[in-house]
Amino acid sequence: MLVKVWNRNTFDHVEKFRNKQITIKAGSYTQMDYHDAIDFLGQFWPPRYGKGGQAIPESFKYLEMDHSDVRAALDDLADGHKEKSEKCFVCGLCNREFATKGKLIKHVATKHKSQLTDPDEVEDLADEVTED
Ligand SMILES: [Zn+2]
Repeated sequence: MLVKVWNRNTFDHVEKFRNKQITIKAGSYTQMDYHDAIDFLGQFWPPRYGKGGQAIPESFKYLEMDHSDVRAALDDLADGHKEKSEKCFVCGLCNREFATKGKLIKHVATKHKSQLTDPDEVEDLADEVTED
């Protein structure tokens, strides 16, 4: 999910991030992945100081993510999580629900072994399951 990262400074912002130079024009924005944007905004960027000991405004990291983009990105993440957790596998013999096919197969192989017409086949399947 891409978000806009705005440069609210009146000077262009140039910063190295993950071996790439990011340039955001003054008052403009660049787009990046939501999680990258969080890391980029959190990256330490000390202000430079002039001869008189005053921080130079050109060096200020005056960036922010577009708020509506952040909202959309968070909604997107929440939806993705919801879809994932709604996906489940139901045991046809006792209606119990499982998050993964592997868990269902293991369940059938252990709890319903006596009810199966071909228990060896299910046991073979269960042996192939590597997820936990
Ligand atoms: Zn069952």
